[in-house]
Amino acid sequence: MIYKEFGNTGIKLSVLGFGAMRLPMASDKQVDYEPATKLMQRAFELGVNYIDTAPLYCGEDSEVAVGKALKGWRDKIYVSTKYNEGEGGAADLRKKLELSLTKLDTEYIDFYHCWGINKGTVPRFAVKGGVLDEIRKAKDEGLIRHISFSFHDDAANMPEIIDSGIFESVLLQYNMLDRSNEKNIDYAKEKGLGVVVMGPVGGGRLGAPSEVIRNILGREVKSSAEAAMRFVIANPNVHVALSGMQNLEQLEENARIAANAEALSEAELVQVNAMMAENKKLAELYCTGCNYCLPCPQKINIPHVFGLMNYHKVYELTDYSRAEYGNLYKPMEERTAPWEIGWGTDAGTCIECGVCEEKCPQKLKIIEQLKETHEILGRK
Ligand code: SF4
Ligand code: SF4
Repeated sequence: MIYKEFGNTGIKLSVLGFGAMRLPMASDKQVDYEPATKLMQRAFELGVNYIDTAPLYCGEDSEVAVGKALKGWRDKIYVSTKYNEGEGGAADLRKKLELSLTKLDTEYIDFYHCWGINKGTVPRFAVKGGVLDEIRKAKDEGLIRHISFSFHDDAANMPEIIDSGIFESVLLQYNMLDRSNEKNIDYAKEKGLGVVVMGPVGGGRLGAPSEVIRNILGREVKSSAEAAMRFVIANPNVHVALSGMQNLEQLEENARIAANAEALSEAELVQVNAMMAENKKLAELYCTGCNYCLPCPQKINIPHVFGLMNYHKVYELTDYSRAEYGNLYKPMEERTAPWEIGWGTDAGTCIECGVCEEKCPQKLKIIEQLKETHEILGRK
């Protein structure tokens, strides 16, 4: 395992971090503790010393499962969890922090993340007697060792949050297909923050077999997942790549990659950049994702559907595309998460009204292309 100095914290963290969001489950609401403990403790044996959980992961049981795995390991492992803002400011934070400490069965949390910080959050948290004062108080009491934030906002909004000087580390999205935070990673490192990446394999997208992705580094790798993981951990300004490992096989494979995580050479970087630019151009032949064609009266999220087609056509991530397209058949009334609703309906529901085609600046033959997509990715 390779370890890196984590920003200005004085701590050395393993480049591979354990994301405890996909642990084996016994039911919707309870982790299957025995295999989950085995998995996490095997990760610790392999040198992983950073574990990331959150109150809502795994049917709200992930923190309990992590607490169980930490028995006998607590002093060697750095634990991260998150504060999900609710009503009630400082009192809400204190209540949630105490619940996390109880569930984790620990006296302190190493990295306490303010979850999903965006442009407006810092001023709101910073009011006198507010959330930030309460976090600092908890730090003085030794309940929290480091104050961190996780980020899902527009990349342009991050420098301001870094410049607030409040946070010691950041948890952000970054992978081969989504490099929007690349400059933020460099800036965070320059300002002395630790940088943890979530979704190095694109939430599983890049884990599906694809020769295009597998060959992108121009060096021998076993799988597209390995290429995606290597791309992230080869970035010298990334300290930890989190992987939501579900079984021992995935864990051993990731540990093998992390043990041999040398940076990409200048020539390799040039090759990756050129290939990604080429792929982006190809993807935009089908759809640039501008959203001008929306809304569709049938609730088809046209750019999302074409995005899935791009993963198939450009990146050869066909299994992934088919699986994701399958989600579009789920009846709207059964969808609860906002992103599930945002996926829209499957392209087979198109009534060919033509409203979208009139608005598309690319003059795409949307109706025809939706039919083709439905044919290729839809249920047989
Ligand atoms: S043609 Fe089909 S996809 Fe386009 S707006 Fe009409 S129903 Fe929606
Ligand atoms: S308007 Fe055209 S290019 Fe833009 S998202 Fe819709 S289909 Fe894609």
